[in-house]
Amino acid sequence: MYVYLNGKLVPAKEAVVSVFDHGFLYGDGVYETLRVYDGVVFMLDEHLSRLYRSSSLIGLTIPFAKDHLKISIYETLIANSLRNAYVRLTVSRGKGSIGLDPDLCPEPTIVIMAQELKAYPKSFYEKGISLSIAKTRRNLKEAINPRIKSLNFLNNILAKIEAKKAGTYEAVMLNVNRKLTEGTISNLFFSKGGILCTPSLECGILDGITRGLIVVLALRDGLMMKEGEFIREDLYSADEVFITNTTLEVMPVSKVDGQKYAIGNMTKLLHKAYRTEVNAYVANVKAEGPSLWGYE
Ligand code: PMP
Repeated sequence: MYVYLNGKLVPAKEAVVSVFDHGFLYGDGVYETLRVYDGVVFMLDEHLSRLYRSSSLIGLTIPFAKDHLKISIYETLIANSLRNAYVRLTVSRGKGSIGLDPDLCPEPTIVIMAQELKAYPKSFYEKGISLSIAKTRRNLKEAINPRIKSLNFLNNILAKIEAKKAGTYEAVMLNVNRKLTEGTISNLFFSKGGILCTPSLECGILDGITRGLIVVLALRDGLMMKEGEFIREDLYSADEVFITNTTLEVMPVSKVDGQKYAIGNMTKLLHKAYRTEVNAYVANVKAEGPSLWGYE
């Protein structure tokens, strides 16, 4: 396995980062998770835009243009012969002396890791997964804004620990105003009386790329949608529930705390529409011209 580290592809064993890296010392950095379908990185532009937005929100300048990172991602995939994969792109503040001042770090550390994506068990999609509402509250927007996809993940990890103790797959966090926000690695959707509902960005969530696409597809399919503030009882009384992220796509939920749900038509319809969109995207990218893989 080869890892991209600061401009070079190196064997995984040699891909080491300093103990003085502020990503390690303080969780000071940002990242993206991307999914590769048949050699094509899905919604690459959107993910890179979010990476640059996250980094600008923490005052971190990425010393490369988007195109450079795009090529580096593809080079990493090619070096590992990966066509269906998961890519993690990490940018940390970099190596510096101990201390919080970002100016202690002259250069960011940039890492691209790609791994084969192991399919989630079919039963997850057929039977649904379980959620529990955590006691841990989502970070305040005014503290660490959840819009920043940062390396500082302890908020989510604390909620994940609760989910593990509860024996559920994913935790849902409320904000300090007791409004629903999102999962530890996913966005939350539910339907009620035929209306598709999802917490708005104002509730303090990550602007999920999958979430954004699902909203577009739902509107395109003529579904009624409500993005807003919701409480836990709205979720308990929902007809259908699902979560989304880049690797899970649309994952049906069959249980939240004690409440059970059937996997309904809206969830199935949206997952199908998402898949169709993925296929069209992959076909489009391939039709655009010779790829870095050189197979067309
Ligand atoms: N919320 C959180 C906290 C996440 O970590 C993720 C995964 N990146 C998501 C939502 C879903 O985002 P996306 O659809 O862009 O993968």
